[in-house]
Amino acid sequence: MKALVYDEYTTNDDFSKILKIKDIPEPKPRPNEVIFKVKAAALNYDDIWGMRGKPLAIPLPHISGTDAAGEVIEIGSDVKNIKVGDRIVSHGNMSCRICKECTAGREYDCRDRKIWGFETGPLWGGYCEVTHLPEVNVVKIPENVTYEQAAAASMTLLTSWHMLVGRAKIQPGQLVLIMGGSSGVGSYGIQIAKLFGCTVIATASPDKLDRLLELGADFAVDHRKEDWHKEVREISKHITKPFGDTLGIDVIFEHIGGSHWNKELTLLKYGATIVTTGATTGYHSQTDLRHIFFKGINILGSTQGSRAELEHGLYWMSRGKIKSIIDSEYTLEKAPEAHNKMLNGKGLFGKILIKP
Ligand SMILES: [Zn+2]
Repeated sequence: MKALVYDEYTTNDDFSKILKIKDIPEPKPRPNEVIFKVKAAALNYDDIWGMRGKPLAIPLPHISGTDAAGEVIEIGSDVKNIKVGDRIVSHGNMSCRICKECTAGREYDCRDRKIWGFETGPLWGGYCEVTHLPEVNVVKIPENVTYEQAAAASMTLLTSWHMLVGRAKIQPGQLVLIMGGSSGVGSYGIQIAKLFGCTVIATASPDKLDRLLELGADFAVDHRKEDWHKEVREISKHITKPFGDTLGIDVIFEHIGGSHWNKELTLLKYGATIVTTGATTGYHSQTDLRHIFFKGINILGSTQGSRAELEHGLYWMSRGKIKSIIDSEYTLEKAPEAHNKMLNGKGLFGKILIKP
């Protein structure tokens, strides 16, 4: 079968130099595994970290791809709930399932956790024609959800769901600020906050503001402007709040970091929450501690989520309340172009797919 393989890391992000199409043997299932024909897989930034070999030296030769959806063609002898012909999508968080964190339902905090397609291998990921996963790491795709929609959702919808529902515990009537609403996590964040009856202000670069409104955001703000936070504060003054509520943002959905961080803190009302899952523009942010202690702010970190949360999110996709925004689709052969697009982010809106 065909697979997208690399045998060496890149030092200059020249993905076309290292990514090769190779013919490798089809996998056979271990007793607890399902084998599936990949119909669609979605790109994530960990693909690029893998190809760089930084910050982790991942196993070589390597097949990337954490989010893959496909049709089951074979199952191992111990598989109970999945059968041949089922439509499934990966839950790429591979945890031990027996440690204290796993059995407490916090499988994303497992110390033995590995991200499938990133830390696994050699030759074990989603960018190939046929792949394999333990039964516990796949979820059935509900009706009305296509392979493409499911693949795009897997890690990204899960991350957004866990941030807003699992960690920040959003409530109807809250005012939620979604930073970077045009990214994968941001586009789901807007839709999840609307599903929960929140009022949503979302930010993006100026060329993408209309699309935030199409996704359901009530207000869209250009975060490239130096004083974007003043605009958010002004909008928040004109939003009708539930009886007795004070002005300000209840929950900020953050994954940008850098210079935005302190401005975000100024927008939070007393007792409010900021939940963060990344730092695409920089890890080092200055924090004015007065905003934290004086206002009693909750700062929550978040990464991935549980398999059950992925199933919740997919359920609401099947009910038509959440959809994946797909930027573009590429073949395995065109993967370097796809990764370049993700890396430079120009004009990108939503997820990039690879279809073997
Ligand atoms: Zn564990």
